[in-house]
Amino acid sequence: MGEELRLLLSPERIAERVKELGREISQLYRGRPLVLLGILKGAFVFLADLMRAIDLPEVQVDFIRLKSYGFSDTSAGEVQITKDVELPLRGKDVLVVEDIVDTGYTLAFLREHLRTHEPASVRFCCFIDKAERRKVPLELDFVGFKIPRGFLVGYGLDYAERYRHLPGVYEVLLQK
Ligand code: 5GP
Ligand code: MG
Repeated sequence: MGEELRLLLSPERIAERVKELGREISQLYRGRPLVLLGILKGAFVFLADLMRAIDLPEVQVDFIRLKSYGFSDTSAGEVQITKDVELPLRGKDVLVVEDIVDTGYTLAFLREHLRTHEPASVRFCCFIDKAERRKVPLELDFVGFKIPRGFLVGYGLDYAERYRHLPGVYEVLLQK
């Protein structure tokens, strides 16, 4: 069984939007230090581009790795931390950088977990928002693109660990 890929976001379109997000983020945090917290693995490509579009005096980067249980392509509400934050977040402005928000379970879990680190603020920036599939209420502060459906790969996103390296975003079309 193979898959066919259909291009949804070209590298040029992504680059343009990431620059805009960088400007919006720089405006909101103007003059203040910021901690970018990327969620592994999916968000690392987006984070790498986004951080270079941010113009602030001090930007720190850290990663957390979360594992969702249940189906392989959707989370079932149970989330486990397999690598925690390493930088001290106490009193810091934290911007969580995520690849896709689908049901919202992952970020809702992370929001609660981050409270224990006592940051000054926590906001969310996601590359793709599948808002129509949300199961828990969640406010996203920065959204790259809204794509209602489909299983997406490329630009850090995988299908069974493949396709992360593609510079654009594609929808996977399964063939029987
Ligand atoms: P949720 O918001 O449902 O807790 O989970 C979001 C996570 O599910 C994302 O971080 C991502 O890892 C995964 N996910 C959701 N939709 C897709 C998709 O279309 N493609 C890929 N590769 N991962 C997805
Ligand atoms: Mg993820």
